[in-house]
Amino acid sequence: VRAAAPDYLEGLNPEQREAVETTDGPVLVLAGAGTGKTRVLTTRLAHILATGKARPWELLAVTFTNKAAREMRERITAIIGPQAEGLRWLGTFHSVAAQILRKHAELVGLKSNYTILDQDDQERLIKQVLEAENVDAKRWPPKMLAGLIDHWKNRGWTPDKLPPAESAHFANNRGQALYRLYQERLRVLNACDFGDLLLHNLTIFTGHPDVLADYHERFRYLLVDEYQDTNVAQYLWLRLLAQKRQNVCCVGDDDQSIYGWRGAEVDNILRFERDFPGAKVIRLERNYRSTSHILAAASGLIAANKSRLGKTLWTEAEGGEKVIVRGVWDGEAESRLIADEIERAKKGGADKNPRKYRDMAILVRASFQMRAFEERFVMLQIPYTVVGGPRFFERAEIRDAHAYLRLIQSEDDDLAFERIVNVPKRGIGETTVQKLLQVARLNGVPAVAAARQVVLTDELAARTRTALANFLRDLDRWRAEAGRMPHPRLMEAVLEESGYTDALRLDKSPTAQGRLENLKELVQAMGNSENLQAYLEHVSLVMDMDRGPQADAVQIMTLHSAKGLEFPLVFLPGWEEGVFPSQRSMDESGEKGLEEERRLAYVGITRAREEARVSFAANRQVYGRWTSQLPSRFVDELPLANVEASSETGYYGGGPGMQQHGSRWDESPSFGAGYSSPGWKRAQASNYKGSHPGRQQVIEGEGRLVAVSESSAASAYKRGDRVFHIKFGYGHVRGVEGNKLTVDFDKAGEKKVIDSFVEKQA
Ligand code: ATP
Ligand code: MG
Repeated sequence: VRAAAPDYLEGLNPEQREAVETTDGPVLVLAGAGTGKTRVLTTRLAHILATGKARPWELLAVTFTNKAAREMRERITAIIGPQAEGLRWLGTFHSVAAQILRKHAELVGLKSNYTILDQDDQERLIKQVLEAENVDAKRWPPKMLAGLIDHWKNRGWTPDKLPPAESAHFANNRGQALYRLYQERLRVLNACDFGDLLLHNLTIFTGHPDVLADYHERFRYLLVDEYQDTNVAQYLWLRLLAQKRQNVCCVGDDDQSIYGWRGAEVDNILRFERDFPGAKVIRLERNYRSTSHILAAASGLIAANKSRLGKTLWTEAEGGEKVIVRGVWDGEAESRLIADEIERAKKGGADKNPRKYRDMAILVRASFQMRAFEERFVMLQIPYTVVGGPRFFERAEIRDAHAYLRLIQSEDDDLAFERIVNVPKRGIGETTVQKLLQVARLNGVPAVAAARQVVLTDELAARTRTALANFLRDLDRWRAEAGRMPHPRLMEAVLEESGYTDALRLDKSPTAQGRLENLKELVQAMGNSENLQAYLEHVSLVMDMDRGPQADAVQIMTLHSAKGLEFPLVFLPGWEEGVFPSQRSMDESGEKGLEEERRLAYVGITRAREEARVSFAANRQVYGRWTSQLPSRFVDELPLANVEASSETGYYGGGPGMQQHGSRWDESPSFGAGYSSPGWKRAQASNYKGSHPGRQQVIEGEGRLVAVSESSAASAYKRGDRVFHIKFGYGHVRGVEGNKLTVDFDKAGEKKVIDSFVEKQA
């Protein structure tokens, strides 16, 4: 008679249980979101320990983030108790590789107290190498080589193994030589960069079979979560370590591979079956996370991808809410809408239990989108945390930009001076800055004033003096301009003329593009304040909000950092062409890039347990210019049956007449899924304006909204009509020209507007 299964196996379905109990031999769990892959991995670890097959330090478990590793450790502790503390080798690829490298550093010419360089140091070092080799840094920026080296390391290529063709990507075929010199410099400095951690491990394992054999002995079982996002170097590392015992279990989902841009290879999934013959492949099909509409919406969306292995998913959680899709006027309206809904969900309602803030998450494609939400939350005092990164106004590039403004506003601001006097790098080094600050202290004047004195002397080397003089001249010019131009324009000019944006444009690191977008967003948002002073005050208020750890807070994060997580209520804003899918990924990687974006959308929707709410704005302001936005194709790809177009819109900002908005929208044609141009604009407009019976018609075909037709072309407005406009308020029509109206608004004065965006008043 078989003994009763231990508690931790109770409740697992047969496939999950198989994945847990097949401890020996290679196992690949390939399954969709929310099917319990991570749970299987955790339980498997606990099972191996509980059955005495291995001791904690004989297990190697790799997760995608340190946070995920911590959570896994906690869950295992809950199952097997304090024994879990001995799990020394539970961490990310990098953290485990760093531990191994410490032990054998001398085998790659390092000492065990080696330092790991950050990106800044790495670039400085590369710059030195390029200078020593007389490579023109203008044509061949250090950042570019840094990016290439990173890429090569992700592929497991040491300088010796670099394919000859790769060398051609830099400085007329000098890529390999420079890469080699850089590695030599690192060795002299007893340092390595991030990519080296794994690369050195590979060198050690392949060059020293005895060392590898020790690890074969030690690691009895290997486990990997989020396997679809491993890169080649990580895969090779894993293969080397698993080679002998073959007790390796990887769990992953090809539909959630979202790090292709960082070198991840979905092919590793196929490689696994080849390299570990006889691997048991287990598929999990039951989703335990989401209700059925959410799951069906996500499955329908991802079905549009061509390159996928394909899978079935089902849930017992039938019913539940449909995925709600809304169009709003602009980014601010979107943040208003979502903040309002968060407040409402927090209160609860007739048929809904109140939610905790922490049960709600906003998942954005790019960090610039966070600004509008953060400001709104500060205003309404909704507690929030930005997960996996700083808050918008705390980002380095935003602080830099503000430091420029502060210094323009007041020369006394020594902190601001220190922050940006050499950002971007203009050859005013740390020693010079210290000297200036010293002079300032001695004479009791601000640092800028001290600098003005010092440039007139021979205290500094000629080159430094010129650089400093140029900087001071720029500063004077900006200050003069501050009085003349609107402050967002000033910000723009400063960022351009200081070389700040240029430096970012040359920057090939993965974060550079995002930082540029953040700066654009900053310029855009500045327009909401009266003037420079008001703006800076506003910023200090926003920054001053209580920043202590908050137990209950709305979670804001990028889709990338939401991987593996789940929340009862998920907001997915900014589903617009160019934002999501991002323009850059489509431009740079075409169809492949688009498919990766779609996987990211799949990751987004599948984070939701009970409610998912997608939104898009008709307009975004970029550098102060309004651009109209097309709803994302992903909106289109959500199966109609699982989607509901909300009957409310995001705009509540109107006068008293807006109070009945609830019912106004009820008659409007259902919108939401079908925005095949050219009808989309109309469809969207119908959402803002309420109904114009007979004017728009939504045609349904094959389960999707496919087109919106227009039956009347003539404007429904005439001179003298009283109208309400979503942005400018009430006014009278003064002129009609096609679909353009000239309206004399009570508050905003005369404006030209599109008729779709106004509503006729009785
Ligand atoms: P992702 O692909 O998003 O990383 P996943 O496959 O790793 O998802 P898990 O996070 O492990 O999925 O599980 C999703 C949710 O389902 C969790 O809340 C988990 O506790 C729950 N779950 C998994 N398996 C079961 C089960 N057999 N019974 C009840 N709940 C389960
Ligand atoms: Mg998981």
